[in-house]
Amino acid sequence: MRKLSKFLLSLAIVGGIISCQKVPITGRSQLNFIPDSEMNAMALQAYTQFLTENKPVSNSQADMVKRVGARVQAALEKLLKERNQSNAISGFKWEYNLVDSKELNAWCMPGGKVVVYTGLLPVTQNEAGLAVVMGHEIAHAVARHGSERSSQQMVTNGLLQAGGVVVGQNPTLVNQIVLQAAGAGTQLGLLSHSRSQESEADEIGLYVAALAGYDPQESVKLWQRMAEASKGSQKPPEFLSTHPSDATRISRLQKLMPKALQYYNQSKK
Ligand SMILES: [Zn+2]
Repeated sequence: MRKLSKFLLSLAIVGGIISCQKVPITGRSQLNFIPDSEMNAMALQAYTQFLTENKPVSNSQADMVKRVGARVQAALEKLLKERNQSNAISGFKWEYNLVDSKELNAWCMPGGKVVVYTGLLPVTQNEAGLAVVMGHEIAHAVARHGSERSSQQMVTNGLLQAGGVVVGQNPTLVNQIVLQAAGAGTQLGLLSHSRSQESEADEIGLYVAALAGYDPQESVKLWQRMAEASKGSQKPPEFLSTHPSDATRISRLQKLMPKALQYYNQSKK
C-alpha cells in the first residue's frame, strides 16, 4: 500500500491553507486539499492492479468503448478550452478498457482511466447510451469528486480543523480515505458520491456527450433502462446508488436539455 508520507508532510507544511476550488464547467465551489498528483498516483496503482485481475477484452465492443471514449474526451477538451479550464485535465492520461463482467458498472478513476463492464452494454444499447454513462463517469473525475469526498471525510474524522491544521495525524486513516476515493468502483470499496455530485456528473456528462455528437435525449431513455435493469439488485451500480427517484433525475435532465441540444447542434457544424 502506497504511503502518504509526502502528502501528510505537505499538509503539515501548508498548515492553514484549506483550498476551495471551482468545479470546471459548473463553477461550483468545492473543498479539496488533496493534490492531483497524489490522487492520480494512487488511482494509477489501483487501476494497474485491477487490470492484472480483470483482463481487458479485445473485440468490436471494446473498439466501441475506445471510440466513444475518444469522442467524449475530444468534446471535453474542446469545452474546457473554450472556458480556459484546460488545466482541469492537464494531468490526465486517458485509457478506455472493456472488461468481461456481468456487473452493471463503469467508472473513471482520477486521472482518466475508464473501465466499462460488458454487463453494462445490453443496457446502454447504443453508442449514445454508452456516451451518456461514460460522460457521467468522466465528469466525476474532472470535477474531482473523489478528492472532494476525501477532503470532507478528513474534516469529519477530525483530521483537520477548520483552520486547516492537522490535529490528529492518523496516517492509516488518511491513507484509507484517499485510497477509497482513488479506487472508487474497484474492490477497494467505493467512497460513494453525494447526490449533488451525482447531479453534477449528470449535467457535465450530458453536455460533453452532446458536444461529442451523441443525441442528449437518449439520456432520459438510458437512465430509465438503467433503473429498470438494476431493480432488485442488492448492490446498485454507482450511478444509481445515491440518486433520488428516477422521476426527479429525469425532470432535472429535461431542464438541462435545451442547453444540451445547443451543444448537440454545435457538434454538427
Ligand atoms: Zn455517478
